[in-house]
Amino acid sequence: MDIAADTYGSASAHSLHTRKLIALIGGLFALAFAIAIAALVHIAYRLNADESQQSYFYAQKALQARITTSQNLLTSYAVWNSAYQHLNAADARRWAFEERNLGESLFTLNGYEGVFVLDRQATHYALFNGQPTNAQAQTFVGTALLPIIEAAQAHSESAAPVSRYALFNGWPALLSASAILPDDGSAVPDAARTRVLLFADLLSPEKVSRLGDDYDLPHLLLESHDTGLAGKPRLPLGDTGYDLTWEPRRPGSQLLWSVVPPLTAAVVVLCLLMAWLFRYALRTSEQIDDSYRVLKISNRALEASEERFRAVAEAASDWIWETDAQGRLSYLSTRFTVVTGFTGQDWLGQPIEKLLTCETMPLGQWLRTLDGTGGSLRCAYRDHAGQLRYCRVSARAIHGDGQVQGFRGTASDVTDEVAAHAQIQHLSLHDALTGLANRNKLTRYFEEAGARLPGPTPLTLILLDLDNFKPINDALGHPVGDAVLLEVATRLRECTREHDLVARLGGDEFVLVLNAIDSDKEIDRFCARLIESLHRPILHQGQRLHIGASLGIAQSSRQGLGVDELIRCADIALYQAKAAGKNTWRYFSEHMNQQIQQRRHLENELRQAIGNQEFVLHFQPRYRVDDMQIVSAEALVRWQHPVRGLLGPDTFIALAEQTELIVPLGRWVLHQACLTARQWPEPMQVSVNLSPAQFSHGDVVHDVREILMQTGFPAHRLELEVTENVMFNDVDGALHTLKALKELGVRLNMDDFGTGYSSLGYLRTYPFDSLKIDKRFIAAMDRSGGDRAVVQAIINLGKAMGLMVTAEGVETEQQLHSLSLDLCHEVQGFYLSRPLDARALELLFEAQSPARAMPVIAPA
Ligand code: C2E
Ligand code: CA
Ligand code: CA
Repeated sequence: MDIAADTYGSASAHSLHTRKLIALIGGLFALAFAIAIAALVHIAYRLNADESQQSYFYAQKALQARITTSQNLLTSYAVWNSAYQHLNAADARRWAFEERNLGESLFTLNGYEGVFVLDRQATHYALFNGQPTNAQAQTFVGTALLPIIEAAQAHSESAAPVSRYALFNGWPALLSASAILPDDGSAVPDAARTRVLLFADLLSPEKVSRLGDDYDLPHLLLESHDTGLAGKPRLPLGDTGYDLTWEPRRPGSQLLWSVVPPLTAAVVVLCLLMAWLFRYALRTSEQIDDSYRVLKISNRALEASEERFRAVAEAASDWIWETDAQGRLSYLSTRFTVVTGFTGQDWLGQPIEKLLTCETMPLGQWLRTLDGTGGSLRCAYRDHAGQLRYCRVSARAIHGDGQVQGFRGTASDVTDEVAAHAQIQHLSLHDALTGLANRNKLTRYFEEAGARLPGPTPLTLILLDLDNFKPINDALGHPVGDAVLLEVATRLRECTREHDLVARLGGDEFVLVLNAIDSDKEIDRFCARLIESLHRPILHQGQRLHIGASLGIAQSSRQGLGVDELIRCADIALYQAKAAGKNTWRYFSEHMNQQIQQRRHLENELRQAIGNQEFVLHFQPRYRVDDMQIVSAEALVRWQHPVRGLLGPDTFIALAEQTELIVPLGRWVLHQACLTARQWPEPMQVSVNLSPAQFSHGDVVHDVREILMQTGFPAHRLELEVTENVMFNDVDGALHTLKALKELGVRLNMDDFGTGYSSLGYLRTYPFDSLKIDKRFIAAMDRSGGDRAVVQAIINLGKAMGLMVTAEGVETEQQLHSLSLDLCHEVQGFYLSRPLDARALELLFEAQSPARAMPVIAPA
């Protein structure tokens, strides 16, 4: 709008000025040219006029000279004694013509057409064109001769001739007359009777032309008054009606003709040159205008982007910093104060290293390694209140003049993330209730022991199962059960040394690992002490609770360092210990393999069960927190045992996994889940658990594709739940398989999130759509604020990675309330619904949405 107009207005100023200047110069030039031409014309005119005037003077002179010549010759004949004697006598003709005194030669030599001797009465001698004639002189002359005669006679005293112009034989001629007188000066008797000699000089065109040549008068000729061009100079010849005219030279015109064309050509060339120069100047100034305009526009863009930067810098949660080349802080955005509590003045001018420290390398050194590319580094600092905080520093070098001028970057506060990560790490290795090590840490402990140099120390693994715990838990409730477990944990810790390990595997099952104790004697002593310690009654709210413990022992020196094998062996020994009457311990021995026999038996039963299709699926619904509508249901397998009744997966899944029977079982579950869910209202989803063994022993991608094709169930409504253990053995293979599954169009859910080793790392690289927070975290939420923070951190992390977050194991209203406050997406748990058989679930669907009709499926 205005900006654009303003930009254009001032931007075109240069070309406008140039145009004005060009017009001015052009005008001045034209004026100068006009003045020069006018001056030239004026000079030419003056030259022509001067020349014309001069020629006039010469013409007069020419006529005068003719008169003088004529009169001189006339006088030489008229004032002569002999002529006076004879011409006044009767034989004038003989003397004049025959004696050739006034004869033919006057015509042939002197060019006089008429020679006459006459007086007032008559002509006494006449010669016309050199031949004597009897005609009277008056017959030749167009005017009266008398006045001429009288004038000549009047001058007789002084013997001066007279001249007149008159028509002679019809053409102008110069008539000169003189009285005929004696040359001795004697007086004549009567002037009026004195004869007169008259010469007629006919001004023929040839004579006039010759005269013109002599006096440099071009085209000299006679013209009658009435004819001829106006503007030519004219000299009238008496009353003859003729004028002498000529064409005077015109030096001015010549000058013009010689000067104007080259001058014009020069001016034209100059004009062209100037036009070219002007065009060039105009174009240059237009270019200047253009670049000025571009400069202005880019200036505005720059201002806008600076403003944008400022807005972003102030709105962002990160703070922005800048240092000089030496790493001294030169800029801190206003967010710095909000995040750290310091003012910018506290730190400006100080080295950034003084503010931020990095555990792995000095910050300044790291900055200096930054080249064209940026990088980021995790740093720690103490805020204004002295609290340790963490931030992720991203930095980039600022280049100018070919060298590094300084550094610039952002610092995002990751304190919460670091804390959450540390807590997740801790939780993934520890039991949430007791804080003891969990199975993961146990596994790691054995791995580390196996890798220890110079050789592994002998380890003794004791599997401990509390006697009488279940009745207490069932009778007095979970809180009491938890208190008992905590007290047990404390006592176990008291009994062990620093480098031993105490772990809880779940429920009332604990593991102790004794480091470098291998002799049976020592172990026996330890076990006795342990049983004694646990046998002491536990005081809880005034009650004395009695529990006991049974121990199964396996040793790395005998059964090897495989933790699973050790547990398996210890478990068999434990079984023996319990069978032996509790509160005692047993070492594993080969004869205990009877247990293994039992397992074999179970394995056979399981195999048959698969053949006989003795399994059923139950489904546990999953609710959307926003509106508490069911969006999905998880398929959970149960074994309808012909003798033992309905068995939960805990009793047979582990065995199925160990024996690879999980592959056909998993296939059946998947097929059955898809068949069942096909009848559910759209867009209800079904989740199916996949065990890691299905990944390693079967072709799970092939199975899923086949089953989707067989059942016609839409892939996007099928969700596969896998735990981090899937990644445990073969990270790359698992990634490949998960990607292939994803390509089938199914959804992938990370189950039991937080119980594995490096949950975050997996989440980042694997193609999961959702994650399920393990029920242990949900159970721990009620206990203290800290555990709730972990759940919050997981929800936020999941959301930050674009994942759908589900919480499982929601057992209380309080948990649901907290999860809804923490904006968890979906929930699942006994509080909302226990796992149901297919029919019960359908009833639930109908109850949830009576308006939504179930699709009509014809019974098979
Ligand atoms: P999971 O995948 O973590 O399944 C959730 C388990 O938590 C289910 O136990 C469910 O009954 C239980 N649960 C649900 N809500 C609550 C609650 O509010 N509180 C508590 N304490 N527990 C709750 P279930 O059915 O006994 O299954 C146990 C495990 O067996 C499952 O854990 C899963 O890992 C495995 N499993 C079940 N079905 C299959 C299957 O078809 N294939 C495979 N590979 N594994 C299965
Ligand atoms: Ca699950
Ligand atoms: Ca789970």
